[in-house]
Amino acid sequence: MIPGARLVILGRQGAGKGTQCVRLSRHYVVPHISTGDMLRAAVREETALGKMAREIMDAGGLVGDDIMIGLVAERLKRADAVTRGYILDGFPRTVVQADALDDIAGERPIDVVIDLHVDRDVVLQRITARRVCRDCGTNYTATGFERQPWICEVCGGDVLQRADDHPDAVNRRLDLYETQTAPLIEHYETSGRLAVVDGVGSPDQVFKRLTLAVNSSRT
Ligand SMILES: [Zn+2]
Repeated sequence: MIPGARLVILGRQGAGKGTQCVRLSRHYVVPHISTGDMLRAAVREETALGKMAREIMDAGGLVGDDIMIGLVAERLKRADAVTRGYILDGFPRTVVQADALDDIAGERPIDVVIDLHVDRDVVLQRITARRVCRDCGTNYTATGFERQPWICEVCGGDVLQRADDHPDAVNRRLDLYETQTAPLIEHYETSGRLAVVDGVGSPDQVFKRLTLAVNSSRT
């Protein structure tokens, strides 16, 4: 039986974390816990937390430590995370959250913190090229040569750039990520728990590097 894993994945937006977390989750048979997804679900369901989070995220900010720690602590108590482990994506974002995670994890500490590294100019290019159908949500990548208006091949709807994929919004998020995450990376590096994995390459290549990093953290 494949052992579980307790992983934290760091990386800029657009580094391919989402894709790789799904694969890691299947490989180690552990839940992929994306705090972004959890927050978006709360926003959709219009819970009190969701309403608060929506205001902050609409302003391009990140939700505060207390809310995030509470959300993650609840999730990690569930049986799947306790017995198999988890892949944490989007948490911790700050050193305060990292310390809280160590408390929450207790006797079952995280195996390794992975920094899925892709240079800023590369992710900026990836994100600002994203387009989405307003009606059916199909994703596209712009090359700059599309006929305008761009019509969805699936449903005939308008293919547009989401407001938060515009360069100004992306740059704001990347700035915020770097400001917040630089101390976090240093924190994990100092304590010998960080593995930097090159995120440029095919999904298979990147996945192989990730499992190597996880496996070597446990030997
Ligand atoms: Zn469509």
